[in-house]
Amino acid sequence: MTARSVEDHARHVAALLAALHTRSAEDIPLGDALGRVLAADVHSPVDLPLFRNSQMDGYAVDAASITAVPAFLPVRGVIAAGPVTPATHVPGTAYRIMTGAPIPDGADAVVPVEDTETADGEVRIVRTREAGEFVRERGSDVQTGTLLLAAGHILAARHIAVLAAVGLQRVPVRPRPRVAVITTGAELVDAGSTPRPGEIFDSNGIALASSVRANGAEVVSITRSGDDTAEFRTLLAEATTTADLVLTSGGVSMGDFEVVRDTLTPLGAEFGHVAMQPGGPQGTAVVDGVPVLNFPGNPVSTLVSFEVFARPEIRRAGGLPPTEPEELPLAAAITSIPGKRQFLRARRTDAGVELVSGPGSHLVAAMAWADVLVDVPANLTTLDAGQLVKVIPL
Ligand code: AMP
Ligand code: MG
Repeated sequence: MTARSVEDHARHVAALLAALHTRSAEDIPLGDALGRVLAADVHSPVDLPLFRNSQMDGYAVDAASITAVPAFLPVRGVIAAGPVTPATHVPGTAYRIMTGAPIPDGADAVVPVEDTETADGEVRIVRTREAGEFVRERGSDVQTGTLLLAAGHILAARHIAVLAAVGLQRVPVRPRPRVAVITTGAELVDAGSTPRPGEIFDSNGIALASSVRANGAEVVSITRSGDDTAEFRTLLAEATTTADLVLTSGGVSMGDFEVVRDTLTPLGAEFGHVAMQPGGPQGTAVVDGVPVLNFPGNPVSTLVSFEVFARPEIRRAGGLPPTEPEELPLAAAITSIPGKRQFLRARRTDAGVELVSGPGSHLVAAMAWADVLVDVPANLTTLDAGQLVKVIPL
């Protein structure tokens, strides 16, 4: 790979990840469906309500037989919510009925209990009623065949509620891309241990995994290799058994111990420079038929590489909408290096977007304080205060 533009590399990555988009829908239990993307239109298999029922605790009556008030109607029994043999209404009488209980055949209104008095097996009704009052008709919410939810919905609690209400146990959803993360570097240790001189905490593993999950994909493994090609190759072989995509960090630039580059070059991987900052050194490979994106190790480079190259494809594969760039004014003038597209860490303020730090790609705290990346085209070197710039929300 010779020096490439960001656009060219993004196209190359998109082509490499084409297989992510061909996996078929899966049917999963409704209880696991929160946040998943509906893969097909869902039509109701039933009417809702399932049967005509009472909206109130009260008395089921036929409105026509209450002509003069107060009326005294004999109470023939009590109908609770729950499995019952349907009752039959006798004109001029009433059933005591609970919310959600089936209305007796022939009754057409419910008198709320608050509007009644009962004594000696009779209910006293103080005003006339209209047919339909406090009756929930079968199918008044949805009818069999009604389109409940169209494909593409990201399932939230309210969507799951209606699918449960119509009795669905399973739901077709878009498959989530399965992503493995491998970090590399002899200097890396886990949080919880005390770094010896020269060692640092591994932040890219958890950061990349979180980025993957934040974009609707599944993390199948997070592993770490030292700068040893055999160790890295073994982890990669394991990762490709379960993953649709492997992301690696570190070991891709021009130093002496570039474990990713050294391992993958003989396997036909491409390494080179993308005209961007941060994130210049990039690699791509296909190992055991699985695409592998090799990001540089600096924490900001890794995250920006993910945002620019992996996020759009992972979201599209999972059926999620793209993260749309916005246009915002700059709070202050900035300069940018010529020939490279820059992704500057910045935050929104009332005065416009404001850079949070210098360009160093090790400045991981500044990345945390940013809420947007200012996307400066490769050909621009100075931008004025107030000028509109493209920003990518983080
Ligand atoms: P590399 O791309 O391997 O040359 O790493 C570039 C810089 O990023 C070095 O300062 C590494 O120590 C640092 N780095 C690499 N991997 C990680 C990681 N997983 N977590 C934090 N820093 C890292
Ligand atoms: Mg390294």
